[in-house]
Amino acid sequence: MNTNEIIEKGQKFVMNTYGRLPLALVKGEGAFVWDAGGNKYLDFVAGLAVNSLGHCHPKVVEAIREQAGTLMHVSNLYWIEPQVRLAELLVENSALDKVFFCNSGAEAIEGAIKLARKYARKYLGPDKYEFITMEKSFHGRTLAAITATAQPKYQEGLDPLPQGFKYVPFNDFPALEQAISPNTCAVLMEPVQGEGGVNTADYEYMQQVKKLCDDHNLLLIFDEVQCGLARTGKLFAYEHYGVIPDIMTLAKAVAGGFPMGVLLAREKVAACFGPGDHASTFGGNPLAAAAGCAAVSILTDKKFLAQTAEKGRYFEEKLYGLKEKYSFITDVRGKGLILGMGISVDGKEIVEACRARGLLINCVGSNVLRFIPPLVITREDIDNAVKIIDTVLSEIPSENQS
Ligand SMILES: *Cc1c(COP(=O)(O)O)cnc(C)c1O
Repeated sequence: MNTNEIIEKGQKFVMNTYGRLPLALVKGEGAFVWDAGGNKYLDFVAGLAVNSLGHCHPKVVEAIREQAGTLMHVSNLYWIEPQVRLAELLVENSALDKVFFCNSGAEAIEGAIKLARKYARKYLGPDKYEFITMEKSFHGRTLAAITATAQPKYQEGLDPLPQGFKYVPFNDFPALEQAISPNTCAVLMEPVQGEGGVNTADYEYMQQVKKLCDDHNLLLIFDEVQCGLARTGKLFAYEHYGVIPDIMTLAKAVAGGFPMGVLLAREKVAACFGPGDHASTFGGNPLAAAAGCAAVSILTDKKFLAQTAEKGRYFEEKLYGLKEKYSFITDVRGKGLILGMGISVDGKEIVEACRARGLLINCVGSNVLRFIPPLVITREDIDNAVKIIDTVLSEIPSENQS
């Protein structure tokens, strides 16, 4: 099918839930993708931080091929070897003790909410059920996950929403302190907010949050679905703060492009789930787990992490260079290879102009350009991307530059 045929069929048969670009991607390799017309793009969207190892990483492809021909799926009524291997890898490389596997970020958040409530009932008392979450957060699209997501635009028309969620501004410690009530059981936050505009928690704020949770016996839950697994230049974003959560969620990059979500918890918290308390038919099935083992073995590699951090610094410096040049760039933010650029002009047109020049980026909201390239990009890829962005920005008419 050509691009138009794919789009026509899609509009006829697929629900209209995404504001899609008129682009059908059919092939990928490393940091590049190709559309149905044969055009090649440098991919700084990376499947929304999923393709951290680039497209079709040979080790992930090989693991999937091998496992698909051996055993694709069995129920969690039985033990699954690739699943226990992946659990061991995640536990040995994190500060958490036990793992539950599911299929997406939202499902991992659902699991985190259920686990925290179970813990609260058992250890904190019958009135402890309330979660405090952050404005500009994003936790996924199931009903509980959009309720945790403190952004009204995602919640519109869906009420009644599940009860027991309270919202505070991000990086505002007094607001958090004030929001705590006798019902509070947990604080849920992304150390680096992705969809909400690449907002990084301040170091000092994070220390205060941790102390507050300790003082009030609250669980601290980190959603590292987007910022975890090497994206920030450390394996987990919490390592930047020296603050260890009680519960953590992962998804996007964990299985190298194969769908998977993960819920991790400290021993005492994890033990609040017993047989029958939580389940997922596909969760951690042999195929997903084999892909996960291949991906996580690479993502946890010390040299890989050091290189990612290095590339992040290089890219960030280049973005600061652009900020010097264009007055409509308000700031550069982020950590490692999740970077954002605040702009006071329309981001959508910049995204489209970059696409026309062979670079895929996206914008969150209308005024933050987000860069989440594959972690396997080269300095040359970064140079090329920055060149394209520079050209596109230089073409913005100066009357728009306030
Ligand atoms: C993408 C994302 C989710 C939701 O993941 P899905 O796999 O789309 O359900 C949750 N939390 C964060 C931080 C995310 O970036």
